[in-house]
Amino acid sequence: MASLANPLSTLTTASRVAIIGAGLSGLACAHRLAQHGVHVQLFDKARGPGGRMSSKQRSSATLDLGAQAFTARDARFVRKATEWQAAGCVAKWPVHSYQASASGWQTHHDGQVRYCGVPRMSAITRHLADSLSPYPHASLLLETPITSLEETASGWQLRDAHGGQHGLFDRVVISAPPPQAQALLADWEPMLSAACEAQPQRGCWAAWAIFESTLPTLPHVDDDWQTLHAQHPALRLVSRNHTKPGREAQPESLSLLAQLDWSDAHIEQTPEVAARQLLDAFVSLLPSGTKLPALLELGAHRWRYAQPVTASSESFLYSERGLSLCGDSFRGSRVEDAWLSGDELGEALLGRSV
Ligand SMILES: Cc1cc2nc3c(=O)[nH]c(=O)nc-3n(C[C@H](O)[C@H](O)[C@H](O)COP(=O)(O)OP(=O)(O)OC[C@H]3O[C@@H](n4cnc5c(N)ncnc54)[C@H](O)[C@@H]3O)c2cc1C
Repeated sequence: MASLANPLSTLTTASRVAIIGAGLSGLACAHRLAQHGVHVQLFDKARGPGGRMSSKQRSSATLDLGAQAFTARDARFVRKATEWQAAGCVAKWPVHSYQASASGWQTHHDGQVRYCGVPRMSAITRHLADSLSPYPHASLLLETPITSLEETASGWQLRDAHGGQHGLFDRVVISAPPPQAQALLADWEPMLSAACEAQPQRGCWAAWAIFESTLPTLPHVDDDWQTLHAQHPALRLVSRNHTKPGREAQPESLSLLAQLDWSDAHIEQTPEVAARQLLDAFVSLLPSGTKLPALLELGAHRWRYAQPVTASSESFLYSERGLSLCGDSFRGSRVEDAWLSGDELGEALLGRSV
């Protein structure tokens, strides 16, 4: 049964913990445990850490495909963002935002300070992964999709999609989005499985467009505009990647994030069609007759599990059997929620109050 009683009163530095998912929440949890001498093995199915903070490297430009920027409200996360700024992997961005509707463009101020990764969003999770290396008892295995868990008399064993076996582990943390977590724990933990089922996710299309030259000047809009909040049925947010710190030498490139309702309705579309529709939506918000520069590349990424429909009231969940869940769905749907969820789960697994 999912429990908030500390299940790990016997955790020692000899204990071994597997963490499935090296997005921000999994890495935050790994750090907290590794700092206290616990043996931590992280697994991710992707080629690099980052999850929904990942970036796409093309020959001419680096594009952020998930989170474009993030806010920091909780004092613990404000301190973490300050630490990342000092380490050089985070900077304030954007500072020049607009909003656009059929009636035109206006400056957009919501009073929030936002940050982005430098020189790409995934620099933050890369920094976290690299800073695990001083801990001899912590490691990260990439390109290792975990496909099943098995509980034995001496601990948990993990199997991956390539036929590999990992373990034994005393505890398993799953930081994948709830539908992916549920697939792993459904046979073992009905309460956690039900908690995952209660967290349906929304999809999101994220397109990118790289241009041969800079976008034309728009009437009454600063040339250095950085983001556009779109009031459009398909398009939600446009980011100019090359205005992010560390990418000034790159050509004009846009990330075009779709509205969630539009994404859900078009989730089975091909990437080519989704990308074209999102670029057309952007063009429809420009003054008529505006001519875009020649396109070097246009593409789109489908996030099937972009954010929860509604966030859980818990920050994380764990069971007496040794399985735990963390991730942004367990607090909200933001970068800050992901970090806090992973960090708080780490604290709880160490038997500390959060
Ligand atoms: C399009 C988009 C825009 C966003 N914009 C913002 C924003 O503006 N501001 C903001 O604060 N937040 C934003 N977010 C949300 C933010 O990106 C997330 O809150 C955060 O990155 C979630 O981190 P996580 O660790 O909880 O999950 P994830 O980043 O999803 O990490 C889970 C990891 O688990 C891995 N995994 C899954 N299954 C397995 C398996 N079986 N075996 C091994 N590995 C596995 C995945 O590869 C992934 O790396 C956005 C997200 C999206 C998708």
